[in-house]
Amino acid sequence: MTARLLDGRDLASHLRRELLHRVERLTNGDPDTAPRLAILRSGLSDAAALYAASLERAARSVGVEPLLLADETDALLRLMDGLNEDPRIAGIVVAQPLGDPERGRQLVERIDPGKDVDGATPTNAGWLARGEPAFVPATALAVIAILEAYDVPIAGRRAVIVGRSAVVGRPVASLLVARGATVIVCHRATRNLARETRRAEILVAAAGSPGLIRPEMVNRSAVIVDCGINAVPAGIVGDVQFATVAPVVSAISPVPGGIGPVTPMMVLRQLVESAERAASPRTSGAIISSTGTEPSMNASRSSVS
Ligand code: NDP
Repeated sequence: MTARLLDGRDLASHLRRELLHRVERLTNGDPDTAPRLAILRSGLSDAAALYAASLERAARSVGVEPLLLADETDALLRLMDGLNEDPRIAGIVVAQPLGDPERGRQLVERIDPGKDVDGATPTNAGWLARGEPAFVPATALAVIAILEAYDVPIAGRRAVIVGRSAVVGRPVASLLVARGATVIVCHRATRNLARETRRAEILVAAAGSPGLIRPEMVNRSAVIVDCGINAVPAGIVGDVQFATVAPVVSAISPVPGGIGPVTPMMVLRQLVESAERAASPRTSGAIISSTGTEPSMNASRSSVS
């Protein structure tokens, strides 16, 4: 059997072209008016540094001006108020994890929810939980974007998510429920994880545990989306044992090259949508639609066996 490859690099480059075009329309060719994305980083976390760097690169690639601020959290807290009030700053992202989780929480809570383009604030998490999404965590949006771009049906499907974090597992669950999936969320207290994952028609792995999902844990018709980013001696791997699982499922996103490249594009899409609303007085203040229409990747037929 040959699994269809849900290629995030392909999707990200489609999204990049679309966003670049939209930013050009917004700025009318004047780079001085480009919307700005503030990226705040504190502490020495490698994961946060990598996320900040990938956002910075992605922002430049679509004509958005990144403003990278790295400092101790106290200084960042003071900076945040200025960023909230600055009309040129269209979006603010705090690259997680921060060295001190409690201070990280304070910093995130200080973001103006109207500029929270990575859906990190409790206000935006609340809107999402109510089924009225405003800004949504970008990785969760990337999961939906990749499923929709590859025409994976969601309504009526049984989806199983491994992981219940505020950044990935929970928001993915809310977005899938909103699209009509029947959703089961698993975690470390789940009894018999394999029994749950085998029933999944859509399986989203977001555990941060390298190779957790093995071939005997999946259904042959399953579509697998792997959000894991795990550094092991051999390099970066996902939460799914790709080499052994890919031959026995219908579709799978790889790591690297799956959700990873799509995530920064989701931050930027939310930022561009917000800047477009601000530039158009007739629609400003309207409920934010953060799940735009995906380019169809139907023509893309790559597969793995
Ligand atoms: P967290 O550590 O916050 O959450 C992990 C979740 O997985 C927890 O709910 C945990 O359960 C569950 N879990 C862990 N191990 C097991 C297990 N053996 N069996 C069942 N459940 C398990 O991680 P994040 O949600 O922040 O990230 C998850 C993964 O996604 C990581 O690899 C991270 O690097 C990656 N990531 C990728 C992004 C991207 O852009 N592609 C962005 C953000 C994260 P419990 O709650 O019971 O502890």
